[in-house]
Amino acid sequence: MAKKTTRKKEPLVDPRLMEILCCPECKGDLVLKDLRGKDKKIDGTLTCKKCKEVYPIEDGIPIMLPKELR
Ligand SMILES: [Zn+2]
Repeated sequence: MAKKTTRKKEPLVDPRLMEILCCPECKGDLVLKDLRGKDKKIDGTLTCKKCKEVYPIEDGIPIMLPKELR
């Protein structure tokens, strides 16, 4: 178990939270994209590997709402 210690900045989303998060649409795995410094409105996005749904992350909090509620 090699642990990487290449941390240039704080993680956008708590790794423990990432482990339990999944797509509310299809329960698929999510891919984190860090957009800090690139986008002023959001910190990043979570994209579902299965259905390609994209969820925004605001202030470090993933907004995991299904399409119908946004
Ligand atoms: Zn999905």
